[in-house]
Amino acid sequence: MRVTGCEVSLRCKNYGKGCTAMNKDDVLRAVRENDVQLVRFLYCDNVGVIRGKATHVHALASRMDSGIGLTVAMQSFATLEHIAPQGSFGPVGEIRLVPDPDTFVLLPYVPRCAAMLTDMVKLDRQPWEACPRSFLKRMVERARTEAGLTLQAAFENEFTLAIQNEESFQPLDKSLCFSSIGMDEAADYISDLIDALAQQNIQVEQYYAELGPGQQEMSISHADPLRAADNQLIFRDTARGVAKRHGLIASFAPKPFPMQAGNGCHIHFSAWDTAGEKNLFYDPHDPYLLSETAYHFIGGILTHLPALLALTTPSVNSYRRLQPRFWSSAFTCYGPDNREAAVRIVSGVWGQEPTSIHLELKSSDASQNPYIGLGGLIAAGLDGLAKRIHPGEPMLVDPATLSEAERVQRGVKRFPTTLEEAVDNLERDEVLCEAMGEVLAREYIAVKRADWADFEEQGEAFEIEHHFYRY
Ligand code: GLU
Ligand code: MG
Repeated sequence: MRVTGCEVSLRCKNYGKGCTAMNKDDVLRAVRENDVQLVRFLYCDNVGVIRGKATHVHALASRMDSGIGLTVAMQSFATLEHIAPQGSFGPVGEIRLVPDPDTFVLLPYVPRCAAMLTDMVKLDRQPWEACPRSFLKRMVERARTEAGLTLQAAFENEFTLAIQNEESFQPLDKSLCFSSIGMDEAADYISDLIDALAQQNIQVEQYYAELGPGQQEMSISHADPLRAADNQLIFRDTARGVAKRHGLIASFAPKPFPMQAGNGCHIHFSAWDTAGEKNLFYDPHDPYLLSETAYHFIGGILTHLPALLALTTPSVNSYRRLQPRFWSSAFTCYGPDNREAAVRIVSGVWGQEPTSIHLELKSSDASQNPYIGLGGLIAAGLDGLAKRIHPGEPMLVDPATLSEAERVQRGVKRFPTTLEEAVDNLERDEVLCEAMGEVLAREYIAVKRADWADFEEQGEAFEIEHHFYRY
């Protein structure tokens, strides 16, 4: 049954028009008026799984201040639900999950249940160094203070609708790319998903049936980076929760079926002045309408990409997706509307070029923790700005069609082909590790190394089974 009674805009009173933050009193009123029983305090861990604990409403007022306790071990948790052997956290020690009232949503797909996203806070009330959401906040602040930038971003999800039969997953349909047949097959589900997102103040922009069997693509409006990452958790949970009510499973696994198109989760982003009024990626005099700021930002991303991939395409299954000629991108290059390039210059909307010119990172999927992926992207871009790194000539063809010698000559590299290789690069990347901070970087790398060890010898079927269900 769908929650009604949320005609009041519960998440943000002026969504998209300069937000008025929800405060504690708004939350307490909303749970009372909607007869909520449980409020989930949610976070995203180092393997990109959304987890949390729920408080009964009777204790909500005090829990909003004191948080809910969580064992520190959860930030050393690997994909197969064990503590990473090289992780630092174990049975001793607690942090608190402290909710951000401005992220409050009534869950339209679970009766009498609401949720808030949380920060991880130490017992001394300081942000925990291993908290991904605090990492993104630091990068947003760094962009503002060091470069005079505010950013806008959106995660654009592709996902697979499937039916679970015993242990295997069958795609919902055999539909054709962008086809009406595919849109009809999924129409009832998609309509409920759009309603459920709207009730949580997430504005859908576009929808279509994508290339692979059962594959869907839905884009939502951009927002500041923190809200964009918060929205990504809400989007994933909602797509999944609504699917369950339809007897379906919505999987964001990067490569759910080895021979078919993968599920990307491209990051769209742009940089603005601190007032948020002027798009600093736009320059009318450039052939692609891109500013020097944008070129340097791309330069930073491409320079760090072999390591950044450990943050934006961070699961073992991610590397099955990142192959040439699958439009996922597989080489460190950029180009205008080039869907085989890691960074696509997105052509502007007619008549709205000054505000719509932006960039898209294609080497990104939804197995990432969006706070970590987006925080890493900002850190890489800012390094490009600080060092004035020029990205070279744009790629105007499919980079797979160039010879290896041509790619070397243009400084274009093939991506790492395994998670292990990307994590090795991350460990060597001082800029990204410094930005993450020692504790988060160390634990993140320990967890990824555990994942590689767990999956390396297991083969394709095991890998797909475990990623399909988790993401
Ligand atoms: N499915 C492709 C991917 O893995 C993206 C296709 C497209 O939208 O360009 O990223
Ligand atoms: Mg697509």
